[in-house]
Amino acid sequence: MFAVDLQPSAYYVDAAETPADGYVFGIVRNTGRVPHSVQDLLSGAGGDRYPIKDPQVWLSRLVNANKTLDDARAFLLENGVVEVGAILRDPKQLPQRARAFWKNARNVGATPFAVQVSALWHAKDKAAARLKLADRARQKDLAGRMARSELIGVLVNGGLKKIGILLYEATDGSLVPYADATTLDEVIDLCILDYCAKPEIVECASCRNRFRRTKGNQVFCSTRCKNLFHVRKYRETVKREA
Ligand SMILES: [Zn+2]
Repeated sequence: MFAVDLQPSAYYVDAAETPADGYVFGIVRNTGRVPHSVQDLLSGAGGDRYPIKDPQVWLSRLVNANKTLDDARAFLLENGVVEVGAILRDPKQLPQRARAFWKNARNVGATPFAVQVSALWHAKDKAAARLKLADRARQKDLAGRMARSELIGVLVNGGLKKIGILLYEATDGSLVPYADATTLDEVIDLCILDYCAKPEIVECASCRNRFRRTKGNQVFCSTRCKNLFHVRKYRETVKREA
């Protein structure tokens, strides 16, 4: 048996400066169990290769983020930087303020990163479209079957094609296989695959967040969402009849 952990690798953000010129920048945390250099990540020396604890929470946060610099910053602070390219980016391309921050971070021995906010929102749109397709693919009818073959094509020829399967040595000496996703595209497709493999995770009919179903026909993530949905429906009926 060959089991692959579907949780993608990521860096954590310790501090992010106020966004400027369409970039969110900061330094990567270099304490704890999170790998603190690209070498660590590639060689498997990091104690914890899977900092994204729940791919579905990560997807929900990305898809539901508003396209503002504040939300970009909050998302990165909460979830870390996924893309190794964001850390290796040539600082010469950065706007002046980010470049100065970059230089200072290097001088004190920290690992800086800079993420172009427009790239993050491009990823958000892509993730939302993939999730919509994955939801359609769950239908049992012909439309569902068509969506499934489209989804397979999109995933197999997209991010999943580029993901390598690597091994790292666990503290007990066992070899643990993991999916080495290093770009946002790859991480998104890995999370979509995780979503497809878990039919019990569904979209809340009220707030659109993903949640784990505990009862067979549950459509709301919480009682609050259920009540809100019915209140809204009632108001709409009253408005229509008025
Ligand atoms: Zn909800």
